[in-house]
Amino acid sequence: MTVSDRPTAVPFTTDDYAARMSRVVADAGAAGLDGVLVTPGPDLVWLTGYQPTAITERLTMLFLTAEREPTLLVPTLERPDAEAAEGTPATTLVDWTDGADPYAAASPMLRPEGTYAISDNAWAMHLLGLQSALPGSGYGSMTQRMPMLRAVKDDNELARMTAAGAAADAAYGEIVRVRFAGRRETDVAADLAGLLKQFGHEQVDFTVVGSGPNGANPHHEAGDRVIEVGDCIVLDFGGLMFGYGSDTSRTVCVGEPTAQIREVHEVVRQAQEAGVQAVRPGVVCQDIDRAARQVITDAGYGEQFIHRTGHGIGVTTHEPPYMIEGEEQPLVPGMCFSVEPGVYLAGNFGVRIEDIVAVTDEGGRRLNNTSRELHIVG
Ligand code: ZN
Ligand code: ZN
Ligand code: ZN
Repeated sequence: MTVSDRPTAVPFTTDDYAARMSRVVADAGAAGLDGVLVTPGPDLVWLTGYQPTAITERLTMLFLTAEREPTLLVPTLERPDAEAAEGTPATTLVDWTDGADPYAAASPMLRPEGTYAISDNAWAMHLLGLQSALPGSGYGSMTQRMPMLRAVKDDNELARMTAAGAAADAAYGEIVRVRFAGRRETDVAADLAGLLKQFGHEQVDFTVVGSGPNGANPHHEAGDRVIEVGDCIVLDFGGLMFGYGSDTSRTVCVGEPTAQIREVHEVVRQAQEAGVQAVRPGVVCQDIDRAARQVITDAGYGEQFIHRTGHGIGVTTHEPPYMIEGEEQPLVPGMCFSVEPGVYLAGNFGVRIEDIVAVTDEGGRRLNNTSRELHIVG
């Protein structure tokens, strides 16, 4: 891929953001809520395109309720920045000035006895401020009350997710050609970060290089360990491209793998395949976890699969809904999430294989398409 044939993104319009906001109002009503309160972070970016340059103690809050047009409350000094965002023309902007009580300014937007979902990353001081201004009001976390808030992607979002996945695949295609043996995990991780940027990512979120025993810790990033011949290595990397996430894992081996590495890798490969094959509209999230987990349990490694099978992805690289036992949210076309079973043999090695999958009318479409066979590196 050269610079000139790198894909570009179609900009989102004010209408796109307005459609998201009205869908959220409808979904909140269906969930028995009086509305949704959104603070700076991924929810606000997705709903308005607005991201304050610095998230401070000053209250910024988008109110999505049935009784009024979308209203964005901002500090007066940040009003010009808010006005410049693509989606904010679809909101009524209200500002409050330093010295005034922001919660008194927020109160008219809320019902005194109302029940609301609030962004997971809202500052506790803001929630406490609303609770003391309106003692009869009630709040729940977005993940708990509106887990599908950002889950279903439109065609423009799917195009960005597809581009991010293809760029991560291109990075994998290059990383398997570099030298692993004799280099530190952090050296390979730096190569991966550079490749993600080279192929169009504006942000790198993680570059896991878990060699040998480090691979048995699913959230090991990369350390000083020098990679040796014979190591099994978990590579798990991703970030944002056009504002949308990539996240893929492959497991490689430096030189000839042992019979045990081959066996465990094949079990994980089949589990991942079973998870992806289970994807279709109407199936619930926990069924994806069950499909992948069954293969690993049947092979005798159930105790060594120590995390959920997947997570949603969109304007962040980890978000609801989760592919986990107990999550009964049905899959809907346009949802994107990871399918990433793993087996972790403490003190020895780990294997994980991960693709992002988009739900279509027919089933699941993988956004990561590099080989899932055990790749031998040098
Ligand atoms: Zn993770
Ligand atoms: Zn990952
Ligand atoms: Zn993941």
